[in-house]
Amino acid sequence: SGRAIIIGASHAGAQLCASLRQEGWEGEILVIGDESSLPYHRPPLSKTYLSGKSSLDELLIRPLSFYEKHTITFRHARVTTINRQARTVTVNDGEEIGYDKLALCLGARPRLLSVEGTELPGVHYLRDADDIEAIRAGLGNARRVVIIGAGYIGLETAASLRTLGGVEVTVLETAERVLQRVTAEELSAFYARVHREEGVELRTGVTVAAIEGDEHVRGVRLADGELVEADLVIVGIGVVPNTELAEAAGLSVDDGILIDSSSLTSDPNIVAAGDCASYFITRYARQHRLESVPSAGEQAKVAAATMCGKTKAISALPWFWSDQYDLKLQIAGLNDGYDSVELRGDPDNGRSFACFYFKDGEMIAADCVNRPKEFMFARRVIKDRLPIDRSRLADTESSLSELMKGS
Ligand code: FAD
Repeated sequence: SGRAIIIGASHAGAQLCASLRQEGWEGEILVIGDESSLPYHRPPLSKTYLSGKSSLDELLIRPLSFYEKHTITFRHARVTTINRQARTVTVNDGEEIGYDKLALCLGARPRLLSVEGTELPGVHYLRDADDIEAIRAGLGNARRVVIIGAGYIGLETAASLRTLGGVEVTVLETAERVLQRVTAEELSAFYARVHREEGVELRTGVTVAAIEGDEHVRGVRLADGELVEADLVIVGIGVVPNTELAEAAGLSVDDGILIDSSSLTSDPNIVAAGDCASYFITRYARQHRLESVPSAGEQAKVAAATMCGKTKAISALPWFWSDQYDLKLQIAGLNDGYDSVELRGDPDNGRSFACFYFKDGEMIAADCVNRPKEFMFARRVIKDRLPIDRSRLADTESSLSELMKGS
């Protein structure tokens, strides 16, 4: 045992400290995080929290009493360096603290938009609770909101603002379609249709040249010269992993902090988990950095076991969700490199269908909109590489269990 230090107090850090006690860590557990709150659920920020349906207290992953009961100590500070030889970390007030085992749960931060004007009042990014407070304060006087970026965060934010009402919402996207980086064309067309039905103005294939205003943002200037008026701008163009601390300490980093299937970094006393880590996904036999709550949780559980000297491996199939309006999207697996898709249900009408991704004849991923059964089915098929009768997937009259070959 001895002292375990966890840097970062969010999804990965919160799971890791709890799992450490479960795995039998008897020594000290110190969680150092630079946000002012105890760990809270981040996904609701762009959903219920933005629309004012939940308070930050309700979003706490665990109450203070839980951490007290398990003698887990929190320190509100920023770690500035890691000294691996001395096994110490230094925090921003200069204090050096020794560790026996160290966990890096550093997460990710918003990618910055590199045009002029982003520092103007009324321009926001969306990553933490403080960002939402600022956006909500700004909404009071806003009529026109422009969201830059049509990824999950941008679209969820658009949905929350339309649901809240009172503002016009325009989404600007450089790519030719929404969610282009992550989904098939059919999904993009579906989400574009629904957002338009809900009153969002979607503009794809446009490039932002600058953000303009004097005392406050006034609009977004496009590359073709047009000014899209705005009194509130929200930028959601992706995240970058917080890997600098690890890099400076000489750990192996490639997009994320590299960890093996036991969440171990290139230092035997240091584990990493969550958005900052690139892990070895057994099912796809490669390193990948995921930005999702379920994978942060699983990596953290395995990391805790590793810190306690036990052998566990990350094995769950990656999955993700996104809530927009009445649409519950559940995603199983990773679709990178797919060569064809199969649809079940009609994306052009209604609000429920599934899209299955195939590569070399094998199902590798699925996007399921209001289709929980298809999601459960796909998770099994993909994880265990079960053979299925693909030709009948599209036939909604056929039951899913019938499609499993040999069943
Ligand atoms: P983070 O949550 O990024 O936490 C890292 C923490 O470490 C932060 O508090 C940071 O301030 C702190 N930190 C960093 N460096 C230091 C340092 N040097 N010293 C001290 N502290 C430090 N995922 C889903 O699966 N489904 C969703 O629907 C979904 N929706 C989302 C909506 C929004 C608006 C956002 C922002 C994210 C969403 N995500 C969603 C992604 C999900 O929130 C992340 O995958 C998850 O938060 C990752 O957890 P983490 O602990 O790895 O990192």
